[in-house]
Amino acid sequence: MNIILLGPPGAGKGTQSAGLVERHGMKQLSTGDMLRAAVRDKTPVGLEAKAVMDRGELVSDEIVSKLIDDNLAAMSADTGAIFDGYPRTAAQGEQLDVILAKHGRSLDNVIELEVNIDALVERITGRFSCANCGAIYNMNTKPPADMKTPTSPDGSVPCTNCGFTKFKQRPDDNEETVRTRMDEYRAKTAPILPGYEMRGIVTRVDGMSGIDEVAAAIDAILT
Ligand code: ADP
Ligand code: ZN
Repeated sequence: MNIILLGPPGAGKGTQSAGLVERHGMKQLSTGDMLRAAVRDKTPVGLEAKAVMDRGELVSDEIVSKLIDDNLAAMSADTGAIFDGYPRTAAQGEQLDVILAKHGRSLDNVIELEVNIDALVERITGRFSCANCGAIYNMNTKPPADMKTPTSPDGSVPCTNCGFTKFKQRPDDNEETVRTRMDEYRAKTAPILPGYEMRGIVTRVDGMSGIDEVAAAIDAILT
């Protein structure tokens, strides 16, 4: 099973990918996560990508497609892949078809998370994650279990998943960069959907409902 989760920044692709990994033993291939790891490790790719990412613009197609190719090469053929944040341009979409064929895979589903753009800025600027396990939270809607009132993580609240008390926020989750990321999505990513529609593999899911409802809707598509 090979699926693409498509939707604007903040639509919930990362949260839903994590759920799919847990429920179905699939592997999440998030180019955003891979690039952030490269930035953290100061690899040549990371050094080149950092400024682009901080502005909310897109890293080159060659770089991200190579990351996907390398990751698929390291995966066992019977592990399903969730593409999260990739492809993001028409060229990446074409490259993905070539890469999948090379690894004996083909695309089964493109799941579009439909969201109200106005709600996304609030979602994204409220987002933070556990510095240890990466669990994703939101100051407005999904605080860690011990945080009585949704507010900001003050370091004394433990992660529901692992108990760690340090959290981090992405440097590109500020309002100005979020607007650029939205513009990039509208201009470059949304236009790749019609091509997948013509192949009959797109299903839309209401990304504004609760995390569990969205997960159930995705599971219904996959069975
Ligand atoms: P988002 O929350 O915006 O979906 P991601 O974690 O997927 O965030 O990506 C963060 C940043 O990493 C993007 O704004 C972009 O600079 C870069 N990036 C991630 N995936 C791609 C891609 N497929 N093509 C180009 N740039 C990418
Ligand atoms: Zn944690």
